[in-house]
Amino acid sequence: MSSKTPNPFSLIPAVDKALHSLQQREDLAPLPLPLVTDLVREAVESLRDEVKEGRTDVPEFDAFVEEVAAKVDSLYRSRIHPVINGTGVCIHTNLGRSPLSPRVVEALTGVGQFYNNIELDLDSGERGKRGGYLETCLATLIGAESATITNNCAAALILMLKHLANGERNEVIISRGELVEIGGGFRVPEIMEASGAKLVEVGATNKTSLADYENAITEKTGMLLKVHRSNFWMDGFTHEPTTEELVELGKAHDLPVVEDLGSGAMVMTDSLAPIPHEPTAMEVLQRGVDLVCVSGDKLLGGPQAGIIAGRADLVAGIKKEPFFRALRCDKLILTAMQETIVEYLGTESGQKPELPLMRMLSASVEGDLRPRAEAIMAELKDLEELEIGTVETIARCGGGTMPKAEIPSLALDIQPKTMSLPKLAKKLRERELPLMGYVAEDRFRIDLRTVFPEQDQKLSENFLAIFGKF
Ligand SMILES: *Cc1c(COP(=O)(O)O)cnc(C)c1O
Repeated sequence: MSSKTPNPFSLIPAVDKALHSLQQREDLAPLPLPLVTDLVREAVESLRDEVKEGRTDVPEFDAFVEEVAAKVDSLYRSRIHPVINGTGVCIHTNLGRSPLSPRVVEALTGVGQFYNNIELDLDSGERGKRGGYLETCLATLIGAESATITNNCAAALILMLKHLANGERNEVIISRGELVEIGGGFRVPEIMEASGAKLVEVGATNKTSLADYENAITEKTGMLLKVHRSNFWMDGFTHEPTTEELVELGKAHDLPVVEDLGSGAMVMTDSLAPIPHEPTAMEVLQRGVDLVCVSGDKLLGGPQAGIIAGRADLVAGIKKEPFFRALRCDKLILTAMQETIVEYLGTESGQKPELPLMRMLSASVEGDLRPRAEAIMAELKDLEELEIGTVETIARCGGGTMPKAEIPSLALDIQPKTMSLPKLAKKLRERELPLMGYVAEDRFRIDLRTVFPEQDQKLSENFLAIFGKF
């Protein structure tokens, strides 16, 4: 190496010096110090590795610190915190599915902060049934003999399979039209295998007859399973037996019939919004199935959970499975679900429960969304960098539910004049209260159906801040 060019190794910043310089920055994200230290160390080490491999353009100290500061920001942004959902997808799995109502969250504050009676019988002073009150509420709401709750609907399905399809009778008969992938690594055949059950596929993708099920029944059959097509639909040359027919077949062979309903509607969806009717757990049980399972944070509008409802002897058996203990819910989830179900039970027929999801689904374009859009546009009227209007859009239920449901909605329709759409979208995601919208027809759109009215002001402030007016 010539004596005129400095040795690049000597330009690599020392960890403590870089860390000190970072900590002097006023705008540094409040990331815990050990995480900042690790980021600095990693950056120094990777720079050293690159120099070893021949890199010579070692950045100036300030540029290096700037790079690490960006990594600090990015890691800080990845913590779970509130986001404004302008996507128009009401149950957005990337955004936490169903938001909880303030009343539910208030109950969590007390139960989380203090002791509670989760496993205490206040009458006797002895040990009590965990979540007993919630189970009673669920059974009443669903019109089931008995009900219980577990980590999520996937866990509910595994528990039902473990209990009903094991040992000599581990075969589960299911239609090829229902071997679905729900999303996020949940494939019905894989879940069944993981539970130890043996899958017996019958019929064809588009057509399965009752005889297909009947012909597959042997002394090894443990149960008949029906999986609701919650995230897709089939049209055309299709056939499947009705639930009632399956129930009759099950009865004739003394086999339980189980339905994984998934979506978890507890109200008539068609009365909420101009969307189709989604089967409810009550309806499925009325058709005679032995057990049904639904998700807690989809159309039910509660926390992540899986609800199993139906025959009391089967629910009791499931609760005795060793696996049940591993998949049980904690006090916060049980409390959130309890308050959500109590909200349903307190709702008069014809009314809708006071839950954010119900309010979102039923908001009217002209009565609710348009006045809000106009107020936001008035707030932003001085922003010359934006062209902003409204556009009628289609919002979705989301969360893998009701793919056919198109909810008429209203979006802000934005064209930035001084930056690209991806740049605007990124800047909005980088705000303290990030905003997620979507790009369509060469415009940035924010569907107001999924934006909480209480967040409208923040939404405007995000734009004002990005263009230096706030
Ligand atoms: C969503 C869904 C599941 C999974 O529910 P999680 O609560 O997310 O585990 C299972 N089955 C069906 C039919 C679903 O729609």
